[in-house]
Amino acid sequence: MAPGLGGRPERIGNWLGNVVAEVDAVLRPRSVTELQEMIAGARDRLLVMGGRMSKTALMDPPGRRALDMRGLNAIVEYGPDSVTVGGGITVFELSRALYAKGLQIPGFTITADPSVGGSITAPTKGANHPFNPGANGVSGAVISARVVRPDGELVDLREGRDTAALALLRDSYSAAGVVAEATLRTRSLASADVHEEVLPLPRFLEDTDQHRRALEQRTLVFPKLGLLVMRVHENRRPAEPAAPFESLLTGPNTPYVRLARALPRAARAGVLRAAVRLGIDRKTRHRLHVQNLTPYPRDGSAYLDFITWSLPIGRFADALPRIVTFCRTHPDYPAESLIEIFRTFPENRFLDADERVAIDPVSFDRREGPRWERFYRDYNRMILELGASPFLNQTRYITAGDMRAVYGARYDAWRDALLQIDPTRKLGSRYLDRVLGTAGDER
Ligand SMILES: Cc1cc2nc3c(=O)[nH]c(=O)nc-3n(C[C@H](O)[C@H](O)[C@H](O)COP(=O)(O)OP(=O)(O)OC[C@H]3O[C@@H](n4cnc5c(N)ncnc54)[C@H](O)[C@@H]3O)c2cc1C
Repeated sequence: MAPGLGGRPERIGNWLGNVVAEVDAVLRPRSVTELQEMIAGARDRLLVMGGRMSKTALMDPPGRRALDMRGLNAIVEYGPDSVTVGGGITVFELSRALYAKGLQIPGFTITADPSVGGSITAPTKGANHPFNPGANGVSGAVISARVVRPDGELVDLREGRDTAALALLRDSYSAAGVVAEATLRTRSLASADVHEEVLPLPRFLEDTDQHRRALEQRTLVFPKLGLLVMRVHENRRPAEPAAPFESLLTGPNTPYVRLARALPRAARAGVLRAAVRLGIDRKTRHRLHVQNLTPYPRDGSAYLDFITWSLPIGRFADALPRIVTFCRTHPDYPAESLIEIFRTFPENRFLDADERVAIDPVSFDRREGPRWERFYRDYNRMILELGASPFLNQTRYITAGDMRAVYGARYDAWRDALLQIDPTRKLGSRYLDRVLGTAGDER
């Protein structure tokens, strides 16, 4: 029996709990060689699992076996301005190790739980550019990646040499192979003086100077509360890892989230409007880059769902008012819900390589699930018409027809490139089958 092959059916699922399945076996490689053997030897289809933070059917197995990358979580070596890690290491594990050395990856997701491999092959968006201007998420820090192709071959892809192959890898959702190891750029720890401001939403929407500021800072828009919170970062400078790493992390259940969940639905907007004004941090505090990092426990005590689409950055001023109006007037958009704004800088990607902005409506209350899903589907239709692009790890219900409508001939080129590397569709998921149009339900 292959190493790590249990032989007993196992239940697998994603963090959000909306995608669960049973498989006959989960393969758990502990070395790159084992990973190569498992992939080369697989005669059936495999779901590759990283941190399982995807909120879509990307975590739905296409066959009866899955591959769990968590065992490949070593820090292989440190370079002068880089670190080489196993593809299964999480952002949390890597950030903790780097912090102890006064280092960081330039940009990261807010959530600590995704793996490096998942963050490279399924696009994420940087969240902390206010600390490191210009930095994207984990995939933006890649110098090179060692990838096991579907036939088991190990290839070494380097930025500057294998530009096209790396661009495809960044939009591949495992179909171009499994990231066994990656070398990422590192930077010294950064800090800034941070305070929060509340702005009335109607005035903000008309003020292009404030738009520019919002895209440079961290900005939360509350459509049904009629206001906006901007977390402003000033006086950026290098920092030392003086405080214990764990003390810098925040949990997902913030006072705002707890209050929103505790209030009856009818009272939420009024109480929360006042609470946001009172609750913001007007006092300037010295914060470190890693203070954006949030671990999401897997015990069911936290819930967070959001709908991610991105638009070219030049569309921000015309798109935001339309999105805000859509959310404010939609009967199923929760009163407490906010919209997060993430700027992503140009990156070598197959599908969306330009400078973009992701605008994400967020839900905090699992009990509102059925209303949220209705809103979700309506929102997808509206933003598709606006010309936005989905993130398949974060945007549900996307079809091959939607992908073709968004990307045109680029979609066909993407599909052909992935099918050329993986003609038998060995590595993938039911969602990938659907968006590639190989599942028979293309529409
Ligand atoms: C509560 C919550 C908060 C989030 N916050 C953010 C955020 O702030 N910013 C952001 O950008 N995203 C955020 N996300 C989304 C999440 O970070 C992304 O979906 C990310 O891609 C997940 O990485 P993962 O390791 O969990 O991948 P998985 O969900 O395990 O897999 C994602 C895809 O990558 C493939 N894959 C996984 N590992 C490998 C590998 N080693 N090699 C090749 N393919 C692989 C899988 O097959 C799958 O197609 C959040 C998600 C949740 C649930």
